[in-house]
Amino acid sequence: MNALTVDVEDYHNVFARDRLARSGPPTRAVVRNTQKLLDLFAEAGVRGTFFLLGEVAECFPQLIRDIAAGNHELAVHGYHHRQVFKLSPDEFRREVADAKARIEDIIGCAVLGHRAPAFSIMPQTRWALEVLVEVGFRYDSSIFPIAGRRYGWPGFPLDIHKIPLETGRQIIEVPLSTISLLGKRLPSCGGGYLRHFPGFVTRWAMRRVAQKRPAVLYMHPYEIELDAPAIETAHLDWATARRVRWIHRLQLRNRRTVETKITRLLSEFRFAPMREVIDHALGTHSADNQVAPQTHGPDSK
Ligand SMILES: [Zn+2]
Repeated sequence: MNALTVDVEDYHNVFARDRLARSGPPTRAVVRNTQKLLDLFAEAGVRGTFFLLGEVAECFPQLIRDIAAGNHELAVHGYHHRQVFKLSPDEFRREVADAKARIEDIIGCAVLGHRAPAFSIMPQTRWALEVLVEVGFRYDSSIFPIAGRRYGWPGFPLDIHKIPLETGRQIIEVPLSTISLLGKRLPSCGGGYLRHFPGFVTRWAMRRVAQKRPAVLYMHPYEIELDAPAIETAHLDWATARRVRWIHRLQLRNRRTVETKITRLLSEFRFAPMREVIDHALGTHSADNQVAPQTHGPDSK
């Protein structure tokens, strides 16, 4: 059994904020694209885990209800998609606690899982695991056990396991899937790797990972959006604008192939929400979702 996971963020407002220095709320594109993924999953009869931004839940609560109605698991992907290394422990606590509260208020049951934006839990941000336990998360799936340029935790164990923390508490970690090639650990099974490589490469990697442990497939709703509007870069200096346009083009590359690749993966592999994959792997109900949500005051974000 493998984990099917979706990081639900709106490409347009996250890109505008990170690259164009323009802030704004998520756009309806995130609703359209997530609905399309929900339809694909329903057709294939599979359920998964949706890691959601608090700001998406705030603007589009009906989308959260629609995901829950499909018996998928809901989890947290931060509030405004800010990488952990850009935050103080207090700011991180607010990001994840507010997003958790927002989603729990909509669905009426406890949210147990977390994935950091851009896999930003690394050796220098391991303090974040302690914060997650304090806030009430049971598991995290943010660690890429690779020596990456932008993210990664070299040498991190590959299996689902409990991490003992300094305070004596523990959190379950579900590391992202990697394959070893020529002695080097490489990322596989999702996101840009799914988009850029031919479909058979991801299917081969999934098969290889699944021989040893559950594979973790991850994707973003925007990766199947084909009619993304052009970006406005006139307010940027020439060099920045050129770089940003290049990044945007790279983000659009091969999107046309993604839906077919996902459909094929859904038919070829067995998937389940992450909570169930954890219970299966650890032989426990440590990630059981049948606990009452905390009550949240009117001032929760
Ligand atoms: Zn993300």
